[in-house]
Amino acid sequence: MELWYTEKQTGNLGITCKITGTLHVEKTEFQHIAVIDTLQFGRMLVLDGMVQTTIQDEFVYHEMITHVPLNTHRSPKNVLVIGGGDGGAIREIIKHPAVGHAVLVEIDRRVVEVSRELLPEISCGLDSPKVTVIYDDGIKHVRENPDTYDVIMVDSTEPVGPAVELFSGEFYRSIYNALKPDGLFVAQTESPFFNADLITSCHQKISKVFPLTKLYLASVPTYPSGLWSFTMGSKKYDPEDIDSSAVPGYPTKYYTAEVHKGAFMLPRFVEELIT
Ligand code: SAM
Repeated sequence: MELWYTEKQTGNLGITCKITGTLHVEKTEFQHIAVIDTLQFGRMLVLDGMVQTTIQDEFVYHEMITHVPLNTHRSPKNVLVIGGGDGGAIREIIKHPAVGHAVLVEIDRRVVEVSRELLPEISCGLDSPKVTVIYDDGIKHVRENPDTYDVIMVDSTEPVGPAVELFSGEFYRSIYNALKPDGLFVAQTESPFFNADLITSCHQKISKVFPLTKLYLASVPTYPSGLWSFTMGSKKYDPEDIDSSAVPGYPTKYYTAEVHKGAFMLPRFVEELIT
């Protein structure tokens, strides 16, 4: 018998994967968690029916949400990830030689525990001595830690449930305050094909708070439409103004200094969302 899993990405479109089995299912205080084993993408973490990450394509998202901001900042010593309980962003952050301390603030302890058990390739960085894991609401954490971080990454779920406020103007103001005077942050801001209004609204809200706001793109096969956006708010550094020769040579599969620059070259329909 063949088993297939479908995520309904919009009301009219889904992604369907042939699976060999379900490794974990649970309902936590915050969300429904599942890990399934797909033939095409390997193990897949699904929260509330939405694909979060897979063994085969996770490198794109995790490298692009981390190395673009880390290599934009000239000295990213103290770094915060909000959400990101699978640990993929942390695994990438600790590759960067300038990083001394990385803090992960995840609201749902079970996402971290399940990822440690079933997605060790992704969560392996969480045990590094450079990493502190805190189980709390990221919104509260940034409010309570002013002038603390060089770089903040908002590695959140879609804007539903506990993540709704992570897309608000008030949250972006708290992020600004939690950053040092030359700090910067990046948030995942969904698909330009299916979430155009969200991208426009995030860009407007972030522009009201940060002197520099820029959008960049990456190609993630399992995310709706395959084209994914990230929005950066920066107090000082321009992500398009990087010195390629200063980018440290740690191992990556997607990110290079040239990809970093190219990611800011936007197709016209995306440019129009933010102008
Ligand atoms: N890469 C993913 C994506 O775009 O689909 C995001 C992955 S990561 C698993 C998202 C995490 O954000 C979830 O584990 C969720 O529990 C966490 N999260 C949601 N709202 C949060 C909040 N307010 N504070 C901290 N973590 C939050």
